[in-house]
Amino acid sequence: MVRLTRGTRGGGVPGRESDRGSPSSHDGPALRLEAVHRCFAVDGRVIRAVDGVDLEIAAAGITTVVGPSGSGKTTLLRLAAGLKLPDSGSVWRRPGSKLSFVFQEPRLLMSLTVEGNILLGLGGGRAARGDLDRVREVEELVGLGEFRRAYPDQLSGGIAQRAALGRALVRNPDLLLMDEPFSALDAPLRRRLQDELLSILKLRALSVVFVTHDLAEAVYLGDRILVLRRGRIVRDEAVVLGRPRDMRSAIACRLQDSLAQTLDSDAGATSPSFDPEPSPSRYPKLKEDIV
Ligand code: ADP
Ligand code: MG
Repeated sequence: MVRLTRGTRGGGVPGRESDRGSPSSHDGPALRLEAVHRCFAVDGRVIRAVDGVDLEIAAAGITTVVGPSGSGKTTLLRLAAGLKLPDSGSVWRRPGSKLSFVFQEPRLLMSLTVEGNILLGLGGGRAARGDLDRVREVEELVGLGEFRRAYPDQLSGGIAQRAALGRALVRNPDLLLMDEPFSALDAPLRRRLQDELLSILKLRALSVVFVTHDLAEAVYLGDRILVLRRGRIVRDEAVVLGRPRDMRSAIACRLQDSLAQTLDSDAGATSPSFDPEPSPSRYPKLKEDIV
């Protein structure tokens, strides 16, 4: 495993990789977090957004992450991506593995066509030989063929999010991190994109960590479901349902109800844990975030 540079607050480049002290080989999990903590200083208080998370994510399959707003889902994902550094603890990824991130909003460059935006996933700059073939392949995969020359402001929300997914997939990632990618879409479209994601995963084994606040989505997609509360994983559930998944089946309904209960069991306490009077020595001034 390769460890992303540990957050030392004083230095370190987010996402820079170091293999010093690497505990294992190319095999094993796609991602490992060890005792990861991440705080934010807000208004003189320190919010513990991620509060001691230990986690291993397998090399294939979908892990869905649910939790109330403010429970640390996005922070966890960004730590996994190396977009944020932990205050303490370590984040490991497999050596040479490729990672892509899909945000809630498509974040397309308005001056580029769909094709140009997908090409960005390969690193931008001049397209190398073979790049365009790869882009075309991905356009077909995510159902964008007829939109390849369109600009983002000519696209519906669903098509724009498909383009974002294409940009993420074009680099053939081993680990795909998705932060509520379909939450802005209406229900039928969301279901279509969920099904498309599942079909894509049938073609290539990759590891997906998918954040959602929609329990039905978490159950429909997840091989494993994590429930996050106040920066901590409070439930880790292996999903025993087959595919295609009948969301009206008794077992799917029971799982959804039981997840709702886990979330409700702390209703009213959805904000992350915080220290009202942080000790300056324990929490020195935090660096600006890069994202
Ligand atoms: P979620 O994605 O589950 O809604 P987040 O990870 O975005 O939760 O946030 C967890 C907590 O950390 C929230 O209280 C949020 O306000 C706080 N937080 C997240 N990012 C920042 C930041 N850049 N600056 C200050 N506080 C932040
Ligand atoms: Mg979030």
